[in-house]
Amino acid sequence: MPIRPENRDRYPANWREISLRIRTIRAAGRCECRGECGDNHNGRCTAENGQAHPVTGSTVVLTTAHRDHIPEHVDDVNLFAACQRCHLRYDAAHHRATAAATRRRAIEDAGQLALAEP
Ligand SMILES: [Zn+2]
Ligand SMILES: [Zn+2]
Repeated sequence: MPIRPENRDRYPANWREISLRIRTIRAAGRCECRGECGDNHNGRCTAENGQAHPVTGSTVVLTTAHRDHIPEHVDDVNLFAACQRCHLRYDAAHHRATAAATRRRAIEDAGQLALAEP
C-alpha cells in the first residue's frame, strides 16, 4: 500500500531499508500472511514477489504491512511482508473496525449529550 502523504513523516528515515530487509531476507520474497487478511490460505499465502498472484493472477509486488497499523512501530514482530491482496484485505478490515469505532463513539457521545440535556 502506498504511504499516504499525511503519514509520510511518521515513517522512520530508514523505513525503506527495514521494509526491504523484511521482504527480501526474512520473507524471502514471499507473502508472510497466515490468515491475518481474513483468507486462511491453508497456511501461508503463496504469493511471491514478481510472480503471478495465485488468486488474482496479477504480478505480485510485495509490500510491508504493520500489524497494528501504526507507521512508527517498525519492530520486526509488528511487520509482515504482504502481497497487494493480503495487504488491502488486512487494511480494509482495520478501516472497517476504525470506522465502526468512530461511529460507536459518535453514537455514545450523542447518547451522553441526550442524557445531559434537561
Ligand atoms: Zn498474500
Ligand atoms: Zn492473506
